[in-house]
Amino acid sequence: MSELRQIFDTVNIGLVVLDRQLNVTQWNRWMYQHSGIASEQIVGSSIFDHFPELDSPGFLKNCRSVLAFGNFSFFSQKLHRFLFPFKPVGSFGSKFEHMQQSCTMGPLRGENQTITSIFIVVQDVTELATYERKMAEMVVRDALTGSYNRRHLEERLNAECERHRRHARRLSLVMLDIDFFKAVNDTHGHQCGDQVLKSVAAGIGSAIRKSDCLARYGGEEFCCLLPETGVENARALAEQLRRQVEAMSTNCQGREVKVTISLGVSELAGTDTPETLLKRADEALYEAKRTGRNKVIVFEAETVKPD
Ligand code: GH3
Ligand code: MG
Ligand code: MG
Repeated sequence: MSELRQIFDTVNIGLVVLDRQLNVTQWNRWMYQHSGIASEQIVGSSIFDHFPELDSPGFLKNCRSVLAFGNFSFFSQKLHRFLFPFKPVGSFGSKFEHMQQSCTMGPLRGENQTITSIFIVVQDVTELATYERKMAEMVVRDALTGSYNRRHLEERLNAECERHRRHARRLSLVMLDIDFFKAVNDTHGHQCGDQVLKSVAAGIGSAIRKSDCLARYGGEEFCCLLPETGVENARALAEQLRRQVEAMSTNCQGREVKVTISLGVSELAGTDTPETLLKRADEALYEAKRTGRNKVIVFEAETVKPD
């Protein structure tokens, strides 16, 4: 076995060589380990016999470009996810169905400089992609409750207001706050308070649509942004959330802790800004607190008056 062959079969990357007809001429051990196809099985046959999914206009165009002009092609994980449909290795499997790959294709030249073959280098970047995904989630999520954070809410709110302005889509906002939450902390301890916050957020999160956005807006205050939703439906949802939280209890070290929430609802109208929508929901929430708590108030210019 040649020295180069030993390197070829021990490096931690996939190495493939195709001839001008796209038949496999080299297939290293790494490729065997991840595909289950041995070099003896694949060398001499068309790459498409074993990987029909590669027979796509994009891949063929890249092959032609390598063979005709000696160009290099890069398959970025961000754009294409993978070239060869391999299973992910180890603990990264849970996040991705396929091994995430970054690949390079380029020409191999014979003695007279004519391009005789194409080489493909396959790199497993699943670990990196997993961390990137986790980091991207951390930037938009609240650590305690797992709901979106305030910054993400504000970004979504701006985007949805823009959609409302351009396409006249309805958009409502429910702002809610746990009633007498300080007393929960004082009576049962801060840790128990944290658990209540988590279970309230989980309860609300499971009751809203995937396209809605639940965000922790402050300590024990949350916002639900409801795209494609008018104030009547937003009120109905708010009332459903109120009843749901009222009915649930959180087990804290053997004790059942119950809380209620107050909710303010507003709908974007005309040329309202995102700030107006937030301010009106906040005013309605304040009115719900002022008039007894554990209730829903919809912002209407005449019902919510400043004190
Ligand atoms: P109200 O019905 O008027 O809303 O009364 P409240 O007691 O809920 O309101 P207040 O604003 O007086 O108190 C909010 C409390 O929420 C005080 C603060 O310590 C608590 N809090 C805020 N963030 C957290 C948190 O992350 N964990 C816990 N356990 N408590 C929190
Ligand atoms: Mg409160
Ligand atoms: Mg509060």
